[in-house]
Amino acid sequence: MFKQALRPLVRGYATAAAQLNKEVNGFVGAVGTTPHQIRLNRLSEETGCNILAKAEFMSPGGSIKDRAALWLVKNAEAQGLLQPGGTVVEGTAGNTGIGLAHVCRSKGYKCVIYMPDTQSQEKIDLLRMLGADVRPVPAVAFDNPQNYNHQAKRYADSLDNAVWTNQFDNIANRQAHIETTGPEIWAQTGGKIDAFTCATGTGGTLAGTVRFLKEKSEGRVQGFLADPPGSVLYKLVENGKAEREGTGSITEGIGQGRLTANLAPDLSLLSGAVHVPDSESIKMVYRLLDEEGLYVGASSALNVVAATMVAKKLGRDKTVVTMLCDGAYRYQTRLFSRVWLQSKKLDTAIPEHLQKYVVL
Ligand code: PMP
Repeated sequence: MFKQALRPLVRGYATAAAQLNKEVNGFVGAVGTTPHQIRLNRLSEETGCNILAKAEFMSPGGSIKDRAALWLVKNAEAQGLLQPGGTVVEGTAGNTGIGLAHVCRSKGYKCVIYMPDTQSQEKIDLLRMLGADVRPVPAVAFDNPQNYNHQAKRYADSLDNAVWTNQFDNIANRQAHIETTGPEIWAQTGGKIDAFTCATGTGGTLAGTVRFLKEKSEGRVQGFLADPPGSVLYKLVENGKAEREGTGSITEGIGQGRLTANLAPDLSLLSGAVHVPDSESIKMVYRLLDEEGLYVGASSALNVVAATMVAKKLGRDKTVVTMLCDGAYRYQTRLFSRVWLQSKKLDTAIPEHLQKYVVL
C-alpha cells in the first residue's frame, strides 16, 4: 500500500541523477568536472547574449586552482621529484596553495606556502587549518630576489625530497585546463560557444582553455583576456607593449607584471583584451549577490564584467563563457566591510540599493 502510493511521486526523477559520478577516488578524484555552468539571467537579458559562468567555487577545494594544484603534483610525481613523505613548496596568492594543501593532505605530503602579505586573512587561516606551513612575505616585484616565488624555490632547493611546483612557469598548470576545463566547457555548451574570457594570474586557465576551445572549434571560438588595474597584460595583448594599466587592484590572485611560460605560447590565440576597473568589479560582486544569489570573489566578478563587455563587442545572440573562480567566503571581511571599502575609496562604487549588503 505504502509502496504503491509512493511510486507515482518518484517516477522519472532518477534521469538527471543517473548522470552523476557514482564514486570518485578521494579528494584528488573529485578535482575537475565541476557540475554547473550557470546562466546569468539578468546580464544575459541586458546584453541579448547568453552569459554563462562555470561554477569553480564548487570544486572540492573551493576554487579554480584545484585543477592546477593536482596537475602540478602529478607532474612532480611523474618526474620522480617527489617520494612518499616529501614536501611541496609553492609561491601563491593563496588559492593554488589551498588546492595544494588539500592534495598534499590526501597524498601524505608536507606543504609549505610562501605568499605575499597583502592577501586576505581568510586564505591564510584556511591554509593553516589544512596543515600547511604558511610563510607570508613582503609583497615585492618578481625581479626582487625576496619575491615570494624566489623564496619558495630557494627553500625547496635547500630540502631533500622536496619540489617547488612553480605554478607560473610550469606548463603542467595549463595542461590541467587543456585536459579538463576546456573539454568540460565544450561538453556543457554542446559546442555552442562563441567566446571565452577570464582573468589571469599564472595564465594557466586562460591559455589552456582557449587552446582547447580554439582547436576543437577549428578556430571559431574567440578568447579574450580580462585584466585588472596594475597588470601589464591588457596593453600587451592590445598593442604589444607590456606596460601597466592603472595601479594596484582589490582583486586577489589575478593581474600580472610579466608574460609567464603558461601564457606565452598562446598569447597569439587571443582575439583581444578587456580592462576592468575595480569600481566595476566590486559593483558586480554585489550585483551577482543581489540578482543571481551568487556569493563569489572579486576575480569572478571581474570575469563576469568582462563577459558582458565581450558580449557587447560581439553583438546579440552570442554565447560567452567565463569562470566563477571561487566564493566570497575567502575575502568576506574585506569585500563586505564598510571600513575596508572606504580605505580603497570604493564604498561609493556600490549603488544605493546594494548598500544594504555592506554588513561588516
Ligand atoms: N581567480 C582567483 C581567485 C585566483 O586565485 C587565481 C589564481 N591565482 C585566478 C583567478 C587566476 O587563475 P590562473 O592562475 O589560472 O590564471
